[in-house]
Amino acid sequence: MVRTAPILLFALLVTACGGGKGRDVVPRANDAFKSEPARQCLKSLKANNVQYTPLPNQSFGGGCQTIDTVKLMQFSTDASNLGAMTCPLAASFTAWAKHAVRPAARQYLGSDVVKIETMGTYNCRKVNGARSGKLSEHAFGNAVDVAAFVLQDGRRISVLNGWNGKDDERAFLRRLHESACKRFGTVLGPNYNAAHANHFHFDMGKSMKDGSAYCR
Ligand SMILES: [Zn+2]
Repeated sequence: MVRTAPILLFALLVTACGGGKGRDVVPRANDAFKSEPARQCLKSLKANNVQYTPLPNQSFGGGCQTIDTVKLMQFSTDASNLGAMTCPLAASFTAWAKHAVRPAARQYLGSDVVKIETMGTYNCRKVNGARSGKLSEHAFGNAVDVAAFVLQDGRRISVLNGWNGKDDERAFLRRLHESACKRFGTVLGPNYNAAHANHFHFDMGKSMKDGSAYCR
């Protein structure tokens, strides 16, 4: 009994310092998609022919939690490694896949994209994988890392090789990066730092509306 008190206090402090609105409250599984904005977001997915499974709210300790998240089941393109995603992230990602990735592939590479390879969504970790500091948006299922695109003609265009690769691959990837900056609050790519040489990081942690959006 004597031992539990400091641990409890520590847990409370960690939770309280978790930052972000609504992220310091332990979520209840059944409370997912109860708010009006959350419900509207699901409706918008449905209206855009996106198939998804709503996930129960979950807390994973250390401030990591998924609130109002979905698992994408089917949309315009196949995608690998997609786990829990907040609904606004899922909406931006599926819209980007349909309205940016597919047309850009036809325009620059003359083929259709059949699969978007990602490096995942939810992951309980700090920003840049550091040991201390702010939790990454991945810790809330509010970020996705995109690594490569597989084309119908068999080509695979990766961020790692294509960003400074052939002209058509460079143009394709730059167009995707540019269009992502209009859809996601934060966009980080190879120009940001070495940790992003092999993927685009997209998250909804910043707002397009208040001018805090970040695009590198
Ligand atoms: Zn990331």
